[in-house]
Amino acid sequence: MKSTTRPTILVIAGHDPTGGAGIAADIETINALGGHACSLVTALTVQDSSNLQSFEPVESGLISRQFQAIQRDFQIDAVKIGMLGSAETARQVAGFVQTLSRQVDAPIVILDPVLSAGGGADLANDNLLEAIKTHLLPQVDLLTPNLPEARRLTDDLTDKSADQGSAQQSIDDCARQLLQAGCKNILITGTHDTTENVVNHLFGASGRLDLPAPRLDGVFHGSGCTLASAVACYLASGHSLTNAVKQAISFTLDSLRHADQPGSGQAFPLRNPASWS
Ligand code: PLP
Repeated sequence: MKSTTRPTILVIAGHDPTGGAGIAADIETINALGGHACSLVTALTVQDSSNLQSFEPVESGLISRQFQAIQRDFQIDAVKIGMLGSAETARQVAGFVQTLSRQVDAPIVILDPVLSAGGGADLANDNLLEAIKTHLLPQVDLLTPNLPEARRLTDDLTDKSADQGSAQQSIDDCARQLLQAGCKNILITGTHDTTENVVNHLFGASGRLDLPAPRLDGVFHGSGCTLASAVACYLASGHSLTNAVKQAISFTLDSLRHADQPGSGQAFPLRNPASWS
């Protein structure tokens, strides 16, 4: 048996029983792009293809034992973090990332800050937000919030002076504050913005790069998970950040163009290029 040349991505995310989002979406994407996914489930959700009803965080001792077993066994090239479910899990995952960062070949860390479900259900309370900001953001190589998530992560950092009132902070303000909080790079996705095209904005040491893409009709379940996992896989395969992000956007768009509706609610990205003909 030969050892693998596939990059290994450790996915840390919630389980969505519909198979549209969460850890199933991450594993499908990574497999489709030629990577191997190890997975730690942070939370079990109750949801259908329209919205999420509730979730239960997974017990921290179990997550810890799973992490230790994987860490002893695999060379991890990237860590992709999605739904965390509780502040305790966020702090615990920050500890895992710190442990892995001491390795000779430290993995690339991608955080998709899943703060709400596609149908609008809230997935993060104030304690979890605080834990993400304090413990995870300073360790992140690439953060992939949508615009509402970027605003929520930076809300308390904004100077709400008299004439600003309750105005929402701009994309650039969010990015500046998230860079100051310690993220090395940020991809703010534009699906929730009001622009005609979807414009994704990549921020990092060399400034801002705007990446426009067509706005597709339909409401999709799992598009953010697909995009973040695809970037993680391309980065773990050795692509530059800009190249990885461009290719991941292209893969996600193809998955969305071929989306189907296996349930009765939102459409699911089809993350299997063999079915795209
Ligand atoms: N992770 C889990 C477990 C979820 O249930 C959801 C949405 O419901 C997400 C992530 C985020 O999905 P999306 O990629 O649609 O933002």
